[in-house]
Amino acid sequence: MPSSSQFFRRNSPSRQGRRSSGGLKLRLMIAAAIVLFSLFTYFASSHVNPITGEKQRVGGLTTEQEVQLGLASMPQLVRQFEGQSRNESAQRYVDYVGARLLNALQNRLADRGTRNPYPFEFHLLADDDTVNAFALPGGQVFITEALFWQLEPNGPRGRFESRLAGVLGHEIGHVIERHGAQRMAKGNLIQGIAGAAGAAGSEVSGAQIASAIGSLILKGNSREHELESDRWGVELMVYAGYDPRSLLDVMDILEKSSAGSATPEIFRTHPKPANRRLYIEKIIKEKFPDGLPTDLVR
Ligand SMILES: [Zn+2]
Repeated sequence: MPSSSQFFRRNSPSRQGRRSSGGLKLRLMIAAAIVLFSLFTYFASSHVNPITGEKQRVGGLTTEQEVQLGLASMPQLVRQFEGQSRNESAQRYVDYVGARLLNALQNRLADRGTRNPYPFEFHLLADDDTVNAFALPGGQVFITEALFWQLEPNGPRGRFESRLAGVLGHEIGHVIERHGAQRMAKGNLIQGIAGAAGAAGSEVSGAQIASAIGSLILKGNSREHELESDRWGVELMVYAGYDPRSLLDVMDILEKSSAGSATPEIFRTHPKPANRRLYIEKIIKEKFPDGLPTDLVR
């Protein structure tokens, strides 16, 4: 666990953005190339998910292409939420909990004879008004400071950490189930970009693609995808040593904080909050029929 005496001060000394935006143009060009390619392979046959073994229609996108598209659309999305957080201790905490979940994921996958192909990164975004968390295809995961503070980082450590694990575990679920790629492959995204470019009489640009992916992600997922991610959230939490009932806390927090404002991705879901809670309770019972381990952090 990262340690620091004044761990969570809301305004820590400023720092430069953690990651350089160098290579952005190249990334955008690559993104344009990938999408043009997938226009032609749009009707390609389904692809087997390397982690879940399920067949999915992902428009011919490979995992490497997903990673490239995610990286290409990241800078614009980060700017939209006021950049990377400058609170280094808080960012370290996000990295720490993310790493614990990834470790749990690796162990689970090793048991099944496979491995995680995604280079995950966890970003705390500076926006402290918009409560949100989301993930780009390929492994870039985001949580805003506004949501981070809602999880009460200055309360009991275990309670905060397991809530954060609930948020990040859910987002990891979207990445490994390739929900973003599946939605891109459904055609709205690719056809939309092609249509916009056609109307403007220009070629498809990387920036248009980045922008389209960003808004697709922020639109939120389907009910089915949300529930699928909740399943991963529960599983990864338990294997990382966190009590999955903290995901229920997260649902309560999101329900309260989203009243009257834009609904965060993690909560923009068709199942009513009460139903989603019931569903999470049901997954816990199904996955752990003999009861949860007794030493989980909560
Ligand atoms: Zn979600």
